[in-house]
Amino acid sequence: MINFLFLNKILIVLVLTFGIYLAFWVYFANRRSKTNQLFALMMLLALFWITLCYLSGISTENLELSLLLGRLAYGIAILFFIPFYFFFIRFIGEKREFLFLKILIPSGSLIIFFLSVFTDFMAKEMVPATFVGVPIGVVPVLGRGSFIYFGFVFFVAVFVLFLLIKRYLKSLKIEKIKLQYFLFGILIFVIANLVFNVILAFWQRDARYYQIGNYSVIFLLGFTAYAIVKRELFDIKVVLTQILVGAIAILLLVNVIGSETLFEYIWKGALFGVFLIFGWLLIKSVLKEIKYREEIRKAYEVEKKAHKELKKLDEAKTQFMMATQHHLRTPLTSMRGYLDLILGGSYGKLRNKKIKEKLKRLEISSKRLAKVINELLDISQFQLGKEVVNLQPNIQIEPILKEIMEELIPEAEKKKIYLKLEKPGKKLPSIKADLEKLKVALTNIVDNGIKYTDKGGVTIKLKIENYKLKIVIEDTGMGIDKEELKALFIRTFERGEQAKKVYTTGRGIGLYIASQIIEAHNGKIWAESEGIGKGSVFYVELPVG
Ligand code: ADP
Repeated sequence: MINFLFLNKILIVLVLTFGIYLAFWVYFANRRSKTNQLFALMMLLALFWITLCYLSGISTENLELSLLLGRLAYGIAILFFIPFYFFFIRFIGEKREFLFLKILIPSGSLIIFFLSVFTDFMAKEMVPATFVGVPIGVVPVLGRGSFIYFGFVFFVAVFVLFLLIKRYLKSLKIEKIKLQYFLFGILIFVIANLVFNVILAFWQRDARYYQIGNYSVIFLLGFTAYAIVKRELFDIKVVLTQILVGAIAILLLVNVIGSETLFEYIWKGALFGVFLIFGWLLIKSVLKEIKYREEIRKAYEVEKKAHKELKKLDEAKTQFMMATQHHLRTPLTSMRGYLDLILGGSYGKLRNKKIKEKLKRLEISSKRLAKVINELLDISQFQLGKEVVNLQPNIQIEPILKEIMEELIPEAEKKKIYLKLEKPGKKLPSIKADLEKLKVALTNIVDNGIKYTDKGGVTIKLKIENYKLKIVIEDTGMGIDKEELKALFIRTFERGEQAKKVYTTGRGIGLYIASQIIEAHNGKIWAESEGIGKGSVFYVELPVG
């Protein structure tokens, strides 16, 4: 059995040393801060209090002196609340001035202090105590004022907890960790007091560990000190693990010291040693896990931020493109309108052939420019996720293809290649489509076929397969590399290496637009090629009906 008085002696030395260290640590961390000064004062009062308690309880020789010390202890304990109140308000960053409490707590504390020290308000007398026949020092007999005393303590505690929890719920993460430390400190202090000073001392009439309740104030102050001084607070789990391991280690060590035989020394010492190793491993693993989690969280946050920035940038780019195109398109439309009127003879007959010819060129160029602007506008809208396609029922594909043929046959003829349309014998079903957009998509594909073919030509075939309309655009041109095939419809402004040589003014957006339009039609688009020089086949599949 561990000698109680011996344990008490060890504990008071440990608590005092640690407490003095904490007071200095916090005070010198920031000498000018009121919070730190108040903390140091609180610590000194607390240490003074537990020392007085200790001294008042050890000797049965001079009960008169014990009573004086005991009363002083009660007095100092209540004085503690004055710096505690002001410290607490600062610590949680409370902006309100509770005028009532600001007066009540200091004056109430002072009155109770005087009553406790100079009258039998708190301690009537000191009596020697025993536990199962063994003397354990002296304990106070409480006076009539003790209800007021404990009522006051209870009132301040409830108020503090109420404010603390309210503030906790409103705080940000870093603030929360700081408050968690404080909360845990209070919690340990309250639980220890309940166990040792209330349950054991009053209920079980075992006053041996009475002082331990007092000593637990070191947890409250220790946690708080840590939260004040450290900027980067550890997750509270690490600290709790350390404290638990530390507390068990101290108990085991005391156990070793209390051994009586050599054999006892050896096995208790071994137990202590094994525990130290496991305790160390436990702390290390908790630290590692927390570090790992922190790293994951940081990486995730960096990625999230980058993703957000990218998205913002992308949207800004698209918005910018749209605004620019709008400003380009409006004047262009009016230019084309006037050009139309001039060529149509609205302002008189054009007699000069050269001027007429140049104006015709101007018209062709402006048409091309309008096409580019429209394409860019479409891209921006697709990228913004806007509905660009307006599907209508009962659309026939053949007239669309015929129009495309009419527009592009002159191009093919210029290159001396053919452009053919192969229809199946039977009538084709109608589809749901946006006539204009579908035409743009198919024109882009057929146009490419002509652009990238020098010998042979381009054939358009129409088929019905699995209740789907399949448009096959086949050319005998330069073909597409396997690698390039993959990226064909995905990226904008991407062009094949070969293509750049053959057709220098391409922009690499035609197929992207085509694929977006076909997808908006709930269709599919893909390409096949045997390789460079072996021609290409483009497939467009659209649902029927
Ligand atoms: P552009 O033709 O303006 O470069 P596109 O988006 O229409 O842009 O085409 C992208 C790229 O796909 C072309 O640069 C070319 O490398 C390749 N390509 C498209 N169609 C064909 C085709 N019929 N034959 C060979 N290559 C093609």
